[in-house]
Amino acid sequence: MKKIKLAKNSGFCFGVKRAIRLAEETAQKHGKAITLGPIIHNPQMVENLKHKGVSVAENTDDIGDEAVIIRSHGIPRETYEILKAKQNIIIDATCPYVAKAHEFARIANSENYDIFILGNHKHPEVIALKSYIDKKVYFFESSEEIINKKFNKVAIICQTTQNIDNLIKLSNSLIPICNELRIFNTICNATNVRQNSSLELAKHSDLMIVIGGKNSSNTKMLAKLCSKYATTKHIETQDEIKNEWFANADNIGLTAGASTPDWIIIDVYNKIKVIVGDANDLVQSVDAIPGYKEESNEYECSKRP
Ligand code: SF4
Repeated sequence: MKKIKLAKNSGFCFGVKRAIRLAEETAQKHGKAITLGPIIHNPQMVENLKHKGVSVAENTDDIGDEAVIIRSHGIPRETYEILKAKQNIIIDATCPYVAKAHEFARIANSENYDIFILGNHKHPEVIALKSYIDKKVYFFESSEEIINKKFNKVAIICQTTQNIDNLIKLSNSLIPICNELRIFNTICNATNVRQNSSLELAKHSDLMIVIGGKNSSNTKMLAKLCSKYATTKHIETQDEIKNEWFANADNIGLTAGASTPDWIIIDVYNKIKVIVGDANDLVQSVDAIPGYKEESNEYECSKRP
């Protein structure tokens, strides 16, 4: 019989649960709410929220008189000023870990460090982070990029979904070329915990199915890490699953990004059970999937709508 196991701590993190709770409460209280950009990088959850009165604006011009939810990634300082000037009700759902990185950026900026951001310069979280720095910023997506320059004081700040090995490698490559190196490890614990649990499972799996938005940085990072140890498929929903993936896989691992709701994980698990000919123990809740361990019970917004 093939074994299917879910990595511990899969699915919604604390910051995502908090942002969704605030969005739902705001829509209930004010009749409608709007987020600037999707509240999380999961199209299915964004669609679900639309039915509860939470719509999405592409930019500040699309915002009318709705209460505005600032998503967990945060927004640039200038955008916040625009919203204040429009006099909208603002509900700040910036994840506290992201807000902490903003604070570190302010400190490093005021203390005249050359600032290196380890992260994707096009990602909304990194764009917001950069807005707290009023000088040139050096961006690194991986530690393999070469730095041909000497620096006096350097500070590193990370996108919260980065990988600790990348931070260690970047730090090591900077030590010989600067006089002072200050490292703000802003990789969030939820990210670390997810990555470690997923890697542990990948080491003992023939196939890893990574579930989450194709636009989700933390899910993409999970897929990249798992692929070092097992054949890995990154899917958004059960519809993308192909029967032939499971022909030679006895140990099948599942994991899900921090923005993947429980119901999508349940559907994927049940579909795989049916494909591998073991449709007896289909589950109704994510905690019935072997291996499951929840990170936090703070808010049950990840349940099926
Ligand atoms: S991954 Fe971490 S930083 Fe990002 S929203 Fe979740 S808890 Fe916050």
